[in-house]
Order: sequence, then structure tokens, then C-alpha cells
Amino acid sequence: MASNEIISTTTWQRRLEGKVALITGGASGIGECTAKLFVHHGAKVVIADIQDDLGHALCANVLGSTNSLYVHCDVTEESQAAVETFGKLDIMMNNAGIADPSKPRIIDNDKHDFDRVLSINVTGVFLGIKHAAQAMIPAKTGSILSTASVASYTGGSASHAYTCSKHAVVGLTKNAAVELGQFGIRVNCLSPFALVTPLATKFVGLDGPEFEKIMGSKANLKGVTLKAEDVANAALFLASDESRYVSGHNLFIDGGFSIVNPNID
Ligand code: NAD
Repeated sequence: MASNEIISTTTWQRRLEGKVALITGGASGIGECTAKLFVHHGAKVVIADIQDDLGHALCANVLGSTNSLYVHCDVTEESQAAVETFGKLDIMMNNAGIADPSKPRIIDNDKHDFDRVLSINVTGVFLGIKHAAQAMIPAKTGSILSTASVASYTGGSASHAYTCSKHAVVGLTKNAAVELGQFGIRVNCLSPFALVTPLATKFVGLDGPEFEKIMGSKANLKGVTLKAEDVANAALFLASDESRYVSGHNLFIDGGFSIVNPNID
């Protein structure tokens, strides 16, 4: 594509026209919001999740059956990774994740709990990148993005397992970006600050305005409340051809939190 064709071939209303995207953890929260935005911009979206009722309802009632498909997929199970089921894959968003509901001290941290977070947040992302790459390499193009967190950079803002897992997402992103660049495949990740979703409200133990008030007091950027739409818009940029020379990047959607608090207690 010639440089003067980037804007003219990218209609701002339909920035993902003709593309096929798979979003893990797409039945809820950030993934659900991103799926809506991707469909709005012309993509066909596959939702891969373990919350079957939510996923089916989202596809049938909101995204539309011609634009979307729900598949049951536990990201920790390689046999269920499901990417290979779809002949064409332009965008892979490894978004499924969990957080521990508590922040145990390391001396109390149960190995089983630690392993569970890593298996979904790290092994799940590894498998997602692996299977997406297998589908994208023959096409010599594609965009892979994964949802990390400000905990990919800060220490002490989440549990040991969660912090460790999100740092690992950055490592996987960088390694895969280096390896897959030769095939025209870009690999990036997103690092949001805290926003209201089922995962975060369970972790923090607060919901709605109360959650946003507490998190707003910790945030660096005042007067703006982080919403799932803000993360979805960043995902849209990384998924679209507008970011065609961006790879190996960790895009913070945190209003500067990670700069002010690189190592919070
Ligand atoms: P959410 O709970 O609304 O969504 C997570 C989704 O992942 C759910 O639909 C859940 O069913 C799915 N999921 C969990 N385990 C799975 C598995 N084994 N296989 C397939 N799907 C599985 O929460 P969210 O906040 O939208 O989380 C999305 C991502 O954003 C996560 O990776 C999370 O770590 C990250 N994140 C969230 C926040 C926040 O404050 N909400 C901040 C930074 C990063």
C-alpha cells in the first residue's frame, strides 16, 4: 500500500471493513465493548469465551448473527483454541483474563491460585498468539493484540500472580513481534488502568460510582473516568491498518498512572 493510500483506503466510519477478528473473553467487559466497536467498523467477530449464555446472547441480540459467531473456548485448552476453525483471521485479541479476588502476601499465596491466574492470563495468551500466527502466516499479514494492564509495568498494584502474568504478556508480545514481523504480522498489547467490569469490581470489592470515585482518586488524569470504550478505541487503532507500522508496543490507557506510579505500594 502506498503511503498516500492509507487515508483514502481507510474510511473512518468502517475502519475494519472486510476483516475477521477473534476476541477471547469477548462475552463481557472490555472484550464485549471491543466486539461492538469492531462490528460497528465493519469486522466479522468471533467471540471466544466460557460464559456461553452471555456470548450467545451478545451475538444473537446485539452484534447480529451475520456479523458474529460465538464459540465456547477455554483459552487454557490448546485443543479448544478454535482459531484454526476459521479460514481467515486478520485480528486476534487475547483479552480473556482473571484477577485474584484478594491480594495475598507472598508468604500466604497458594500455589494453585497462582498457577490458575498464570494459566489463563499467560498460557491463554501464548496459545492465542500461537494459533493466530498459524492462521496469519500464510496470509503474510495480521494484527495480534493482547489485553495486559498497568500491572504489566507497576509493582504492587495487584496480586503477585496478576502482576507477574501481565508482565509476561508484555514479554510474549515483544518476542512474538520480533519473530512474526518477517510475516507482516504485528503484535502489540494494551495496558488499561482500572475500569468498571465484572473482573475489576470483584477484585476491588466495589461497583459503579463508588469504584470510579476510589479509582479516580488514584488516577493521575482528573476529570475523565476510564470506560471500556476507551480501551476498545485503543484496540481499534492497533487492530486497524492505521497502526500498520506499530509492533511490539505496550499501549497504556491509563491517563499517565504508570508514569507517576512506576512502583506503587
Ligand atoms: P470481564 O470479567 O468482564 O471479562 C473477562 C472475560 O474473560 C469474561 O467474559 C470471562 O468469561 C472470560 N474468561 C475468563 N476465563 C476464561 C477462560 N479460561 N477462557 C475463555 N474466557 C475466559 O473483565 P475485563 O475487565 O473486561 O477483563 C478483560 C481483560 O482486561 C483481562 O485480561 C483483564 O486482566 C484486563 N484488564 C482489566 C482491567 C479492569 O480494570 N477491568 C484493567 C486492566 C486490564
